[in-house]
Amino acid sequence: MCPRGYDIPILLYHKVALTPPPGNAVWVSSELFARQMAALSACGYVTVSFQDYLAYRAGTAEPPPHPVILTFDDGYESLYTTARPVLDRYGYKATAFLATGYIGSTERMDNQWDPSEAQHAVPMLLWSEVAAMAADGHAFGSHTRRHPYLTATNEDRARQEIEESAVALRAHLGAAPQVFAYPFGDGAGIPRIEALVQQAGYAAAVSTLPGVANTLASPIWALPRLRITEADTPGPGGSFLRRLGCHAPLPPADAELGGAPETDPWRELVLSNRCPHQVAGYQASEAGGSEASLLVSHPARQQALQLNPSAAVIWGLCDGQRTVAEMAGLLREAYPDQAAAIDADVLQALLALTEYGAIEWT
Ligand SMILES: [Zn+2]
Repeated sequence: MCPRGYDIPILLYHKVALTPPPGNAVWVSSELFARQMAALSACGYVTVSFQDYLAYRAGTAEPPPHPVILTFDDGYESLYTTARPVLDRYGYKATAFLATGYIGSTERMDNQWDPSEAQHAVPMLLWSEVAAMAADGHAFGSHTRRHPYLTATNEDRARQEIEESAVALRAHLGAAPQVFAYPFGDGAGIPRIEALVQQAGYAAAVSTLPGVANTLASPIWALPRLRITEADTPGPGGSFLRRLGCHAPLPPADAELGGAPETDPWRELVLSNRCPHQVAGYQASEAGGSEASLLVSHPARQQALQLNPSAAVIWGLCDGQRTVAEMAGLLREAYPDQAAAIDADVLQALLALTEYGAIEWT
């Protein structure tokens, strides 16, 4: 085992929606979520479970080179409808912490515990959807029954909340949950609450304390997580991959490309990857280069994207043999007067095409 333990970033999501209300830290737009998952995949991240984490911690297994745990708190319908198809695209598996008292059997409930969300009640999962995701390999943990502040609750009631959600999960999924998440993060680091969680039979608990979890250093009853918000963009200069600690090495042949700082992890991974394309068609603009149309092959639909001329030329050149850096070099020859803009265009285009599933990174 690594003497310093292994870093395993645990990402914290709540709701994923097409148009999140502005200024809310518990929503991520579906567009950004798709870009974040594409960036994770491009950077080589693979999802692991808490069962895996416990094995790394016990020294009975070793993590892959870029492990990540994706968690979703509360149990919103959008996990099933919006996040799941994106996760499926990359073979990613999530762990959702359910406030089980709000998971319906026949009638869908909403998040009525949260007064700040009263104007826009958010629908929760159904047990049938939970079971379908569990059958697909996603994991479920406990987030109490009714989502209370545990430190403001008397001990009997707190114990009930912590135990009964595990009973509900076992009844619906056939196995007791291993991991607990404190509602509002309240109770993490408080010995009397952590003791209740331990006594209820859980093996670990996650907090909302910020940080990258480590297999040796992190407290098992208050594992830190990285709360992901709309501010965590994966593109050049964005914080998303940097917060996870993604630093793919830059190959020497690409070093002469100027522009963005070399420490930008997204730039590094773009320059060090090849892109075998799956483009259905390429059509240069009749207007002579100000715009070009791409027909991008997508599993669900044929989508025409309007991209800048550099992006279109990349597509024309991309044959799965050249690296992105080599393509950028050819672009510079083709458009010497636009050389300064080409790096930015290359990144932008690849990001957009990755998001649409048009590029498979190798
Ligand atoms: Zn919650």
